[in-house]
Amino acid sequence: MNDLLPDKSRVWRNLEKKIATVFTNYGFDEIRTPILERTELFLRGLGEVTDIVEKEMYSFEDRLNGKTYSLRPENTAAVVRASVQHSLTYNEPKKLWYYGPMFRHERPQAGRYRQFFQFGVEMLGYDSFESELELILMCNAVWRSIGLDGNLRPRLKLNSIGTSEERSSYVKALGEFFQKHVGVLDNENLKRLTRNPLRILDSKNDNLVKLKDEAPKITTFLGNASKTHFENLLSLLDGHQINYEVDLKLVRGLDYYNSTVFEWKVSGFGAQDTICGGGRYDALVPILGGAPTGACGFAIGMERLVEIFEANSHERKETFVDLYFAHTGRDAKVIAIKLAEQVRKVGISVKVDLTDASLKTQVKRAFRNSAEFLAIFGEEELKTGSVSVRWLSREEGEAHQRKVPYGEMVEFLRKIKNKSGNKSQ
Ligand code: ATP
Ligand code: MG
Repeated sequence: MNDLLPDKSRVWRNLEKKIATVFTNYGFDEIRTPILERTELFLRGLGEVTDIVEKEMYSFEDRLNGKTYSLRPENTAAVVRASVQHSLTYNEPKKLWYYGPMFRHERPQAGRYRQFFQFGVEMLGYDSFESELELILMCNAVWRSIGLDGNLRPRLKLNSIGTSEERSSYVKALGEFFQKHVGVLDNENLKRLTRNPLRILDSKNDNLVKLKDEAPKITTFLGNASKTHFENLLSLLDGHQINYEVDLKLVRGLDYYNSTVFEWKVSGFGAQDTICGGGRYDALVPILGGAPTGACGFAIGMERLVEIFEANSHERKETFVDLYFAHTGRDAKVIAIKLAEQVRKVGISVKVDLTDASLKTQVKRAFRNSAEFLAIFGEEELKTGSVSVRWLSREEGEAHQRKVPYGEMVEFLRKIKNKSGNKSQ
């Protein structure tokens, strides 16, 4: 579990804003559900033979009422629970997004944490492949919005895992195939062989790559409706010039998926290279007590996204405040606080140095705070009724400082702020 210190949380906040804006831009509404849910919800929703339910949940018994709760390991089940409980899809299908911490008791390693954050989207009441297209377009818009474009764009992998009937014949065939190769399977996959052979395809054990390649493919087991659904989606993706790769071994770790499943991968992050996973989960709504209805969604892992963003971002350090206000002495400080209030009213952020440190120290702090401008209010300025404004990003001498009368300060700052804002776009 991580502390996000200010240097990091600035980057997070910046990405969070951009991602939320993309979702809103697609007409999705935010939903916030509790971090704790009854354990039962996840047992029923995710399936008992899944990594999450078998070994990753933080669960405890509430001594006060004897009920068992879990810190949410993912949020799809909870969003569907809330939707059923509040009849959210009674009048029309719903497009929802969420953001928040998830908890999984995993082995700590790079890119895998016990508390991690997910942005996710759920479309409830949507059957069509067009809704899956929209999910993929949204992911694509998220990558674009944070500059993961061109060569940096994550790679899309897709598969269809059919209906539950189609999948059960496939699982049977997979079971028979892997049964013939038990010698190669590790303990974990031997367990999967008896409980759910499909999950062997999801294994990250490198020794199994060849065996998985030779295993029967889902395609032979798909009926016409499933095939057409998937082909229709692929041709829409072609039409939108979204590159993808069909990966017949892609199955996803949870039981609730059917039909289309997809993942977005990035390079250079070892086995933790998936930054987004999603797909269709029509079975989940009825499992959680709702009327049968189509549903699909995805979740993006924030830690991995931030990491890839930082590895590729050449932007200068995130600006923290627009303006750092330095002063000399008590009288100057009191006026600085007053002026700062006026400046903030026009949407410029100001950090006033409230200490009695020397001007030199205060100027250093302005740089350390990555402020764009520094305002100095010293004895000289106090006498002349003016403020000195300095561009911290400009070289000395290059018109980097101006003296402005009090009364004109707000207007002056508004102008230069607009200019510098336009430049960086
Ligand atoms: P994996 O196969 O890597 O274990 P998963 O199938 O368990 O992934 P999902 O449940 O699909 O992952 O979660 C969606 C995304 O959330 C993942 O692609 C990943 O980016 C992120 N994620 C999942 N688990 C963690 C974790 N423990 N720490 C950080 N990010 C995570
Ligand atoms: Mg996992």
